[in-house]
Amino acid sequence: HVHGKRVLVVTNSTVAPLYLDKVVEALTKGNPDVSVESVILPDGEKYKDMDTLVKVFDKAIESRLDRRCTFVALGGGVIGDLCGYAAASFLRGVNFIQIPTTVMAQVDSSVGGKTGVNHRLGKNLIGAFYQPQCVLIDTDTLNTLPDRELGSGLAEVIKYGLIRDAEFFEWQEKNMEALMARDPSALTYAIKRSCENKAEVVSLDEKEGGLRATLNLGHTFGHAIETSFGYGQWLHGEAVAVGMVMAVDMSHRLGWIDDSIVKRVHNILQRAKLPTSPPEMMTAEMFKSVMAVDKKVADGLLRLILLKGPLGNCVFTGDYDRKALDETLRAFVKS
Ligand code: NAD
Repeated sequence: HVHGKRVLVVTNSTVAPLYLDKVVEALTKGNPDVSVESVILPDGEKYKDMDTLVKVFDKAIESRLDRRCTFVALGGGVIGDLCGYAAASFLRGVNFIQIPTTVMAQVDSSVGGKTGVNHRLGKNLIGAFYQPQCVLIDTDTLNTLPDRELGSGLAEVIKYGLIRDAEFFEWQEKNMEALMARDPSALTYAIKRSCENKAEVVSLDEKEGGLRATLNLGHTFGHAIETSFGYGQWLHGEAVAVGMVMAVDMSHRLGWIDDSIVKRVHNILQRAKLPTSPPEMMTAEMFKSVMAVDKKVADGLLRLILLKGPLGNCVFTGDYDRKALDETLRAFVKS
């Protein structure tokens, strides 16, 4: 999948000591013609910005990389999104490979071609749709991942079951302890099935006309937590877990799903050691003010992903009783 002879590996200060040498060796062993440059960025969501992006361009230009070069993203979702956007815009687009090393990146961010960086006024506001040449997933890299990061990624795995794959959800109910214990075959199955689900949705609706939005179950509520509480305090998947609980609660209040689904969602999230209620400082007003500027607001109406019908079915709609949303917010906050 490497085109040409020049490769730029983009990684960060946490992942580089663990895997950079191995990747460079894999690229160059038996390929004397291939030369590899690397750029090691600081670690953290706060560096997913324009200033850090420019560091990638600086390295690429100083190294005189040409149109035939390949950018390789080695790391979690932050590195994947940033490197992907750099690949999309360097010389108007160069070959790009993802080597995701977190569960979040392996099951979600590396698939589907959304790339970009944050602006100080909001997350992921600058970016491009840009598909990688290939996504290479080595589940062994998950052995060095902190426990909280593992759980955070599993929130997205659980999401696929809820929105479109009841059989997968049932499999997770049987295998959650194996996943938490990082059993390689359980992880491989969960990652493969997640990628298949995501790829199917994206292939039907790459630019998010409607169906792709269903991948955001729980993200509207979750985003309110991330924004109000400050990025970094709560991991993305942790906020999404609470958001899913809230979306499920609201679906139940609307009479769209039965009790058993509500219980099963609580249960599986708890087994993945994920939170099921928002931080105590959150108020209904905080939720409302962030949700009012959500990307899914159309004509002043907030559209949400809600479950409807048997397990594995959801809708993306603005057609719901506002009272149910207010009741859900009241049920989850103190004021
Ligand atoms: P992350 O990239 O910040 O990685 C989490 C932490 O784990 C970091 O400290 C990282 O250095 C470390 N790490 C990575 N791999 C490791 C390994 N194998 N061993 C030890 N430590 C390791 O966070 P993330 O959860 O992977 O990704 C979150 C980002 O992904 C957010 O910016 C989000 O917006 C983005 N995202 C994008 C999409 C998309 O479709 N493009 C989808 C979901 C999320």
